[in-house]
Amino acid sequence: MKQIEKLLEWLDRSTCNFMAVATIRRELEEAGFRELKQEDKWELNPGDKYFMVKNDSAIFAFIVGESDLSEGGFRIVSAHSDSPCFKLKPNPEIIGDGGVVSLNVEKYGGGILYTWFDRPLSISGRVLLRGSDPFSPVTKLIDLQRPIATIPHLAIHFNRGVNEGNPLSVQKDMKPVIGYFSREEIEEALAEGGFIKKILAEELGVRGADILDYELNLYPFERADLVGVSEEYFQSARIDDLSMAFAGLEALLCEADTPCDATRILAVFDNEETGSGTKQGAASPVLRDMMERMIAVMGGESEDIYRALARSFMISADDAHAWHPNYNEKYDPTNHPVIGGGPVVKINANCKYMTDGLSAAVFRSLCEQAGVECQYFVNHADVAGGSTLGNISSSQFDIKGVDMGNAIWAMHSARETAGVTDHLDAIKVFRKFFEG
Ligand code: ZN
Repeated sequence: MKQIEKLLEWLDRSTCNFMAVATIRRELEEAGFRELKQEDKWELNPGDKYFMVKNDSAIFAFIVGESDLSEGGFRIVSAHSDSPCFKLKPNPEIIGDGGVVSLNVEKYGGGILYTWFDRPLSISGRVLLRGSDPFSPVTKLIDLQRPIATIPHLAIHFNRGVNEGNPLSVQKDMKPVIGYFSREEIEEALAEGGFIKKILAEELGVRGADILDYELNLYPFERADLVGVSEEYFQSARIDDLSMAFAGLEALLCEADTPCDATRILAVFDNEETGSGTKQGAASPVLRDMMERMIAVMGGESEDIYRALARSFMISADDAHAWHPNYNEKYDPTNHPVIGGGPVVKINANCKYMTDGLSAAVFRSLCEQAGVECQYFVNHADVAGGSTLGNISSSQFDIKGVDMGNAIWAMHSARETAGVTDHLDAIKVFRKFFEG
């Protein structure tokens, strides 16, 4: 399958952080990677291919280097599994006139709210069922894969000024509707713990009473697709940052059988959109612990982690803002990456990105070797801009690295747009990085 078709299919499968990790897990297993659990005893040999999952929502795949870890170091591509969305609160059902049922939701991350109106929406996430003891609930991933909800916008007749700016309240304006029901249907659903628990129970073939908890989010039920006269763009939800996670995955899988002195890692963290401060986020010790553990398991000394890190490099891959033809004034006059112009190095004088001159030079050289053009992103000097995984990781372990990504439009919209050739170019550069 062509790499771009694979990307579109992976995006459609990966409807939330949990489903993204499930997609990556499946691909890794098919390529012969085996799972290592944190609670088990590890044994590692050069060339071994493994992955470790954290919280069902972050995943770390690695191929043990051919040389001593302290000599070979680590080559890491990092990305994130999460995207802005709406999460269901507990007891989410709100019953209105005529039996209309809407859902009480909370905003996750910083999405562009009005892009979520009037679209077919579905629900995915994880459900926790009663297990053998209180500490071992059974986890089930779920993706309804059908349009069961929509957030209807208010008619313009009730708000004539809507096109002049329309502040939105998540609590009031963004509640999705799932349908209208008779009194009997409502009573039946309430007896099973509510409509959502009833739907989950039916889907999973369990009793509503066995559902202890859930983490569910809404997602736009719309296929990823190619757009443009020559199909030069692709559009989907969650391009930030699953396109980078999948470019890293594709590169690792393509190079998995190429012997390499360095230990190669694909690190897909969760919770970047809310500051990375969870046990599965980039501000946690999860990746550093994994690297230290590899060295310990392979008989290294305590000094070896420092030697290894000094020889390591990280590509923190998170999408960048493409120049938008309608808003030239928002962009830096000389450094505004365009869709189709190749991977983007992100630079910030106040060090919001981990990129420095040296790491930018390394990345540029890799691009040259891969035969790929690269571009720079620097904020317009009067715009604050965002930050990403790179710097957060540098606070956990001492490593050189670059912040990069592909240029996309409408970051954090329910449907983002990116470039086909940029995706292929990112895979080429990551392959060069993972080649050894
Ligand atoms: Zn991102």
